[in-house]
Amino acid sequence: MPEIIDGNAAAKRVCEELSKKLAGISAPRRPCVAFIRVGEDPASVSYVKKKGRIAGEIGIESRLHVLPESVSQGELNALIDSLNADDSVDAVLIQAPLPGHLSERDSFNRVRADKDVDGFSRANLGMLCQEDPRAFTACTPAGIMELLKRHGVQTAGKRAVVLGRSIIVGKPMALLLMQKGADATVSVCHSKSENLKEICSQADILIAAVGRPGTVTADMVKEGACVIDVGINRVPSAETKSGYRLVGDVDFESVAPKCSKITPVPGGVGPMTVAMLMSNTLAAYMRHLQGR
Ligand code: NDP
Repeated sequence: MPEIIDGNAAAKRVCEELSKKLAGISAPRRPCVAFIRVGEDPASVSYVKKKGRIAGEIGIESRLHVLPESVSQGELNALIDSLNADDSVDAVLIQAPLPGHLSERDSFNRVRADKDVDGFSRANLGMLCQEDPRAFTACTPAGIMELLKRHGVQTAGKRAVVLGRSIIVGKPMALLLMQKGADATVSVCHSKSENLKEICSQADILIAAVGRPGTVTADMVKEGACVIDVGINRVPSAETKSGYRLVGDVDFESVAPKCSKITPVPGGVGPMTVAMLMSNTLAAYMRHLQGR
């Protein structure tokens, strides 16, 4: 049977390390992350709450700004500008998705690069592309790299296939895997890719970030591959109180027996995403303390 990569345990360790590091810093103020949430989307409410709780456990202050669903781009921009200018705020996070009349791209780009701990701005994506160590890297791909490292998955010279090309997951994931030091040979697939099965079955490391349950089936996976499932999909379930359960993009039951390592959903990539957000926030704080 494969090794199940326990994202909860890894995230707990990362957060404990951050907590220890923070305890060793004597400074006139604590790190602070500001969350901007637009509207009352239940998933966004729950994600922001969770991030705030984990920040608190580490010793990071969090401030929540909730704007109404009807907010204009100008009003959202004004809030981002005020947080950019506020020296007591180290990190600014805009919870996606935003309502359709607002531009996620313009909003992400407006966050000052040194406070953009999500790494979605063009400044940080550009720095990632240039392999500039000052880049804040998108938290989900950064968390996956950390999971691979902590679980002894070799990337150098290996074939990696990334399913999905979003700026939140797929693109930065491919950049991280191919950059010097990681040195994987990377293919990126998307909804228009042909011969998906053939491409995926060559992967030593297969990363699925599609948002569609059952996208990766056993016949697409090479014997002994490491499979990372990023997808978070709600499917109806008669067995839960909520009436749904969370599944990934990978058909876990059929794929797991073929893998050397695999992440579960939930409890795989998700917790590491939050841990990396905290890690980026602490890094932003350290830079601000040092006046950089
Ligand atoms: P997007 O919808 O932005 O991107 C999905 C990508 O999958 C697109 O590039 C799309 O192609 C591609 N795609 C769609 N159908 C197929 C297919 N049949 N075969 C191959 N590729 C396909 O989603 P995100 O990247 O934001 O998120 C992906 C998933 O990961 C979601 O389930 C999301 O909830 C989850 N997620 C989980 C996180 C975590 O912390 N665990 C964090 C962020 C996301 P095209 O570009 O052609 O449309």
